[in-house]
Amino acid sequence: MSNLIYPTTNFKATETLTMERGDGAYVYDNEGNQYLEALAGLWCTSLGYNNRELIDAAAEQMGQLSFSHMFGGKTHQVGMDLADKLTAMLPVENAKVFFGNSGSDANDSQIKMLRYYNNAIGKPEKFKIIARERSYHGVTLAAACLTGLHANHTYFDLPFDALGILRTDAPHYYRGALPGESEEQFVDRIVNNLEQLILKEGANTIAAFIAEPITGASGVIVPPKGYYQKVQAVLNKYDILFWADEVITGFGRTGNDFGCTTVGIEKPDMMSMAKQLSSAYMPISAAAIRGDMYEAMIEPSAAVGAFGHGFTYSGHPVASAVALKTLEIYERDNIFGHAATIGEYMQKRMAEFRDHPLVGEVRGAGMVGAVEMVANKKTGEAFNNGAAGAFAVQACQNHGMITRAVAGNSLAFCPPLIVNEAQIDEMIEKLGKALDETLDFVT
Ligand code: PLP
Repeated sequence: MSNLIYPTTNFKATETLTMERGDGAYVYDNEGNQYLEALAGLWCTSLGYNNRELIDAAAEQMGQLSFSHMFGGKTHQVGMDLADKLTAMLPVENAKVFFGNSGSDANDSQIKMLRYYNNAIGKPEKFKIIARERSYHGVTLAAACLTGLHANHTYFDLPFDALGILRTDAPHYYRGALPGESEEQFVDRIVNNLEQLILKEGANTIAAFIAEPITGASGVIVPPKGYYQKVQAVLNKYDILFWADEVITGFGRTGNDFGCTTVGIEKPDMMSMAKQLSSAYMPISAAAIRGDMYEAMIEPSAAVGAFGHGFTYSGHPVASAVALKTLEIYERDNIFGHAATIGEYMQKRMAEFRDHPLVGEVRGAGMVGAVEMVANKKTGEAFNNGAAGAFAVQACQNHGMITRAVAGNSLAFCPPLIVNEAQIDEMIEKLGKALDETLDFVT
């Protein structure tokens, strides 16, 4: 035991695993046991562990300039280089980017920039944000209000009403469809719900709609085809911005550069990124907005004397150097292309579990996926607690594989992008054993 308050942990849970080192797609505990990291840490270690180039990039930058801030007229070359390289990759028009340290703070920064922007253009009443049920956008106070998960609200007195977060349907056909409803009918119904919500609240009060192109922590929900096109048509009609939370789906995870590309989201106005931006070798996040939104904030910042938002570590030079090197490696080694190829293989292999008696749905895209375990395969009835998920995670661990249960009893898979087919086979073999053992446990 130590004096730690553990993040996102059941404080009564007694099982602990002490990690000691990592290499490639594997991590090792303090007893020397090897595990395939099938969740890439927390959906983040895209280039795996012990990548010499990233380690060297950090060490060199630490030696040269270990810290320099970016407040009030100070800057440094590596931070500017990262901003330019990153924004050149983005589908956001004339993107400008604000750096932070986590996905949560990127989302908080976005909320503040949205407010700043709408105040600047004379629309102070346009501040509400539509987020979806079962979304995950982080845990800082504002980001936690965007998040649509019970555990992130209960006992915290969240969400705050004053933040103006509105909630719309999760695009999860398997769990959300009415009996007999086709995918297309389901999409039309929930997009109509979205439009009714906008009409009820008043479009002039709503600034943006936030979505993870494909969700992560809420169970890897892949919306039916056509969903985002219909959502964007409604948002455009009412002058509401599209804000893509690409904290998990960014940088090759779904088999393309960004999740937006994979699911057909056109020109998002705002994009939040973190995790794979630096392959998690250093904490860094990026909140990108349209160039004209930034332009609108220039005069107000001068009038006030400063844009009064910035972190000590915004654009930290070591994190910037590591992120820059990460983006270079993605490009040089065609990591997104590799992720597309291996991702197709991973989805094909995962689909084999559709016939497993414990599995209700297998879903995913590229190199992110989930297997949902259900109490009744025929009806899709969910388990009424998370015991199956917890058992299966432990079973995976016993077989030398790390994963997480998300949304109760879905097992999530999101291995480092550098894995090969043999490692996907290893993942599938271990998952198969764990599912069989979990079936024995629940029956
Ligand atoms: N947004 C999404 C989609 C995420 O998955 C996460 C974390 O998993 C966050 C935001 C929050 O990021 P962080 O944990 O770095 O604050």
